[in-house]
Amino acid sequence: MAEFSIIDTYFKRPSTDVDLGVGDDSALLSPPPQQQLVICTDTLVAGRHFPLDTSPHAIGWKSVAVNLSDIAAMGAKPQSILLALSLPQIDHEWLKGFSQGLYACCDQFRVALIGGDTTQSPHLTISVTALGWIENGQAIPRSGAQVDDLIVVSGTVGDAAFALAHLGHPLQQRLDYPTPRCELGQILKGLASSMIDVSDGLAQDLGHILKASAVGAVIYLDQLPVSEPLRHLTLEKQWQYALSGGDDYELCFTISQQNYQKLLQLQPNVQTTIIGKINIQHGLTFEKDGLDHPLHIHGYQHFA
Ligand code: ADP
Ligand code: MG
Repeated sequence: MAEFSIIDTYFKRPSTDVDLGVGDDSALLSPPPQQQLVICTDTLVAGRHFPLDTSPHAIGWKSVAVNLSDIAAMGAKPQSILLALSLPQIDHEWLKGFSQGLYACCDQFRVALIGGDTTQSPHLTISVTALGWIENGQAIPRSGAQVDDLIVVSGTVGDAAFALAHLGHPLQQRLDYPTPRCELGQILKGLASSMIDVSDGLAQDLGHILKASAVGAVIYLDQLPVSEPLRHLTLEKQWQYALSGGDDYELCFTISQQNYQKLLQLQPNVQTTIIGKINIQHGLTFEKDGLDHPLHIHGYQHFA
């Protein structure tokens, strides 16, 4: 019975835009005509993907945000989520904060919670599946980067990793409450040639684009967008945070010079910065002041 009272108390709200939401064996959605379903899932494990003392509200927000970021990275519009929750015990304080954080993110991006599963398990684990829509054939894959395309990143990078190393710093907001770049992702439909969201570090995630597109790239180290608190660090440290820090959930995309001008005219709600260029070489190289600048960087390893 406890399972059902948890669902009724914390995870059941009337939702518009869906044919049938929480409460039946499955949810029902009507696909918009001529659109493809975009779907992804991400799991957060306590102590692994967030510090154990992270506020339940932040955990709720983040578990939705990281999935909306993946939908955004395809250029798609998010519509709904499913939530699989494994809880060590029933803690009403925790459930209240968690569900409020989850719905705060859902509301901000106009996404409905349409179903899920609730179980008991020794480890707190949260799996969210997100669904969205995109016009047939319009999704932006990792594989479309072309030689001479610009490489662009939204917002600033390295903040979340810096915050993880300095818990209590104001930048912890960026670690706990990442902003999925939903609007930018959709604007880039028809403009960007490839795209990925930065979850495991910019260099590693850009590496996925390079591999999928069979191209290389040069990164201009002096152009990396880092926020003010990081600028007090040595350049070498700034680059490490910017290139290898995970959890930023910014968008990294490739785009022709011409389409980048079009993007700027559309005035996206987040800054975008040109950080490099696609070339025919193999892998990633770095430049500082127009000169080669060899650098060794690491990305987040899920099984390290
Ligand atoms: P079933 O036994 O048919 O799988 P459940 O009893 O697990 O159904 O769930 C009952 C309803 O509550 C379903 O509609 C399911 O999608 C929803 N649900 C279960 N857990 C959650 C949750 N954590 N968040 C949102 N909806 C949930
Ligand atoms: Mg079930």
